[in-house]
Amino acid sequence: MHWSNSVPNSLSTSVKSLLIDGKNVCNQENTFDSINPATGETNYRVSIADERHVAVAVASAKDAVSEPAWRTMLPHIRARILARMSAIMESRSDELARLQMIENGKVWSECKAQVASAAATFRYYAAVCETLGSEVTPSRGDYLSMTAYEPYGVVAAITPWNSPLTMEAQKVAPALAAGNAVILKPSEVTPSVGLMLGEIALEAGLPPGLLNVLTGDGAVTGNALINHPDVRMISFTGGTATGRNIAVTAAQRLIPVALELGGKSPHIIFADANIDAAVEGIVGGIFEGSGQSCVAGSRLFVQRSVYGKVVDALVARVSKFRVDLPDAEGAEMGPLASFPHRDRVERFVAIAKDEGGKVLVGGERPQGSQFDKGAFYLPTIIDGLTNQATAVREEIFGPVLCVLPFEDESDLVAQANDTNFGLASGIWTANYQRAWRVARALETGLVWINTYKQLSISTPFGGFKDSGIGREKGINGVRLYQQSKGIYWSMNPLNMPH
Ligand code: NDP
Repeated sequence: MHWSNSVPNSLSTSVKSLLIDGKNVCNQENTFDSINPATGETNYRVSIADERHVAVAVASAKDAVSEPAWRTMLPHIRARILARMSAIMESRSDELARLQMIENGKVWSECKAQVASAAATFRYYAAVCETLGSEVTPSRGDYLSMTAYEPYGVVAAITPWNSPLTMEAQKVAPALAAGNAVILKPSEVTPSVGLMLGEIALEAGLPPGLLNVLTGDGAVTGNALINHPDVRMISFTGGTATGRNIAVTAAQRLIPVALELGGKSPHIIFADANIDAAVEGIVGGIFEGSGQSCVAGSRLFVQRSVYGKVVDALVARVSKFRVDLPDAEGAEMGPLASFPHRDRVERFVAIAKDEGGKVLVGGERPQGSQFDKGAFYLPTIIDGLTNQATAVREEIFGPVLCVLPFEDESDLVAQANDTNFGLASGIWTANYQRAWRVARALETGLVWINTYKQLSISTPFGGFKDSGIGREKGINGVRLYQQSKGIYWSMNPLNMPH
């Protein structure tokens, strides 16, 4: 199909274009508004990809992935493109950070750190491309047996709004390293980081069509994408309910799906912990990014003998937590990512109060003229709830910490594991044997001991239970986007098995 209304994104100031086959494709008739959650102002209008755009994007990706230029490109050459993408991201760090900040309201320092992390992800997968090989497996006869790894072809990458910088790098870099073409569908709340990533890929020399970026909503764009017969794998990060629906589609189509889903992570303080360090870890673990993090430590379990001391220290620290405009010097927390999302967080706090919860700090919007037009909400600590309360069981995905006491190790493990989720957990204790026992007993894909939210691209990441299927990151993060092929090569064609 010929797109008569194709315009370069730089010239299209009012409506952001889709990126299809290396071209900017503007859909003037069907757009959505990108809203700055700190000010309530419209950033720009963004094109919505409908079924026609999805069809053209998938066709271009399918063609690009089968071109000898890509299919036979030696891995160390592919690595150069990824490394160049990393370098361009670093050189355009301010632009990338700003796009995320004006769309989801994260504070500037966090956005900058996430650009650095995203660039490092591309560098890491460039290195993986250079080093990861096929395997010669033990043979049981007069032949050579090998396992080679091949791309699926066209991969759909669907991402949420809380950290597009890191989430999108985490999918695009390994999927390209593995030899696929990627169609990225960012969240409607944060469309621009993905679009810029597509632009950077072209600048780095990635052939057109290998990274197409389709903005739009889940119901139209996302749904058309996952149902397209030429999409051969889905990599999804988002809420558990959406992930479950996507898994149903993948099951019907018999294609693989990787799901990074929600969390309700237990953060645990034993009486022997270094309380000052733990309090800092807990505050960062829940309130960084306004609590909009899949690994947010949103359920705090404190051993009863230090409960009062820990709660007092937390309330004192959180009362001074600096909520401000995301680009304000020293801001620790900006607004929530959208106005509907703030409504949702407020509803959870109201339910918590109805169910007997006591708000110890926060529980309302901040006062001050700079907050009037934005989706701001104060960091909030609630206690007095049981482990069965709605706010303790459901993922609020906002700056709300629920605190509960525990008696001993077995009581703690039972309470911490009494949840449908299983993404992350944190343990603060001076007793290394206990740390080990509890780390092994917790049903989570990730455990932090005497730290929280430290993440490395080299360590596999993913959840137990309703928090997902599959592991991203690490060297084997590339294998998520490949299928193995066994090859038998006879050393003696006259000696065939009977
Ligand atoms: P959603 O599940 O609502 O959406 C995620 C993505 O899926 C968006 O791009 C969305 O599009 C798209 N989508 C929605 N419906 C469909 C559909 N039927 N078919 C295809 N795509 C669809 O999550 P949020 O964006 O609200 O993100 C928050 C959630 O993400 C939280 O639950 C959080 O825990 C989870 N998350 C998990 C992480 C992990 O690594 N485990 C990391 C970060 C977040 P659109 O929004 O444009 O409609």
